[in-house]
Amino acid sequence: MKRTIIEVILALALVGAGAFGWTNFKGNQKATGQLTELKAASEEATKAVADKDAAIKAAEEEMATLREEMAPLEGQAQQLAAVKAAMANGATLADLEAAYKTQKNLSAERQVGLGALRMLTKGAEDPAAIESFRKALQLSELGDRKNTICAAQLALSAAGEKVAIMADCLPKGAKDEKGDKGDKAEKSGHDDKAAAKDDGHGKAKDDGHGKADDKKAPEKHAVHWSYDGDMGPERWGKEFPTCAKGKSQSPLDIKGPFVKSRTVVTTDYKEGPLKMINNGHTIQVNVTPGSKIRIDGVVHELLQFHFHRPSEEKIDGKPMAMVVHFVHKSAAGKLAVLGVLLKEGNENPGIKTLWANMPMEEGPEVTPEGVNFNPANLLPREFDFYSYEGSLTTPPCTEGVRFYILKSTVNVAKEQVAAFPFKRNARPVQELNGREITTN
Ligand SMILES: [Zn+2]
Repeated sequence: MKRTIIEVILALALVGAGAFGWTNFKGNQKATGQLTELKAASEEATKAVADKDAAIKAAEEEMATLREEMAPLEGQAQQLAAVKAAMANGATLADLEAAYKTQKNLSAERQVGLGALRMLTKGAEDPAAIESFRKALQLSELGDRKNTICAAQLALSAAGEKVAIMADCLPKGAKDEKGDKGDKAEKSGHDDKAAAKDDGHGKAKDDGHGKADDKKAPEKHAVHWSYDGDMGPERWGKEFPTCAKGKSQSPLDIKGPFVKSRTVVTTDYKEGPLKMINNGHTIQVNVTPGSKIRIDGVVHELLQFHFHRPSEEKIDGKPMAMVVHFVHKSAAGKLAVLGVLLKEGNENPGIKTLWANMPMEEGPEVTPEGVNFNPANLLPREFDFYSYEGSLTTPPCTEGVRFYILKSTVNVAKEQVAAFPFKRNARPVQELNGREITTN
């Protein structure tokens, strides 16, 4: 619009100056001068308008991005509002429980939510609430969601139940005061709940039921971590001490000398319904019970597997395009991770199925209808490995995790790597600190 106005003024000035020049030759020279000035002013004004247009366009683009980012939050806020409205309109806990019952496989977050509601309505000693938290604790071990584990642990402890609380779950003050006790809590937490991987996001809050969670550990639930910036791997230790102080941390740069190992690892993975989650740090497939590996005959159940880009492990200083970590747990609580390195090459049909169903944005677990998956589709034929004692590669970096990194790689297409929604979600390699790397 502004540009048009300037053009009209310029045109009028030209016509005016032209008419003037027709009748007055001397004046014509002056008019030419004025014309040049006018033209320069017009160009300047046009440029100013163009700059403004560009600024407006940039702002509009920024607004669009912001709107996109806001969309999931709005969804959560609506859910919360819906629950609040339902309660205000006389919906009872029984109604909610009935609604929950129609959903199969309640997530750990919903179990915590349900437990919290039961506690609010029936008091802290309500056995159903306690059972709900217990269930959440079991489920969240499978799902590796630290905040849910914390909420369930703290709620159980508040209800007077004996439960080990991970040090990372305790409010800061309590941890400092307790000193040794805090360490003990972390150790027992590590034995019992070693599968706890913090995802840094309080999912329990998302469905608006995370009351217990809000009350018991407000500080910890704000803890966020990432793979870059001011909450990147170098800063994890601030909130999760083991990440900085641990002496057996993962991943490693795998290089000789190696110690000969006679350990035999065999896999027995089964097909099951596909359950996937984008937890903001990786794409994770939660596995239904029944798939396992045997390490020298000892059964370790496959809980979940997830991806890192590039591979967290390096072989002789070099990372691969990606790695799959299959996370297992024995009846005694020992964690074992089987790592399969993905090398750029042909398309991987297993990954094709997974990628076709993965949630691109962070959110709750999805269960695409009628899609089954066998984790064995991602394994190479040969089972030679490197092995070492390590840790979770994400906060809280709990140690006591045995790693088996297979020497044989499987293919992944360049396009498949590019389609993975996390550009970089790999912790840098850690100090060996005298650990042995074995190989069979
Ligand atoms: Zn991993």
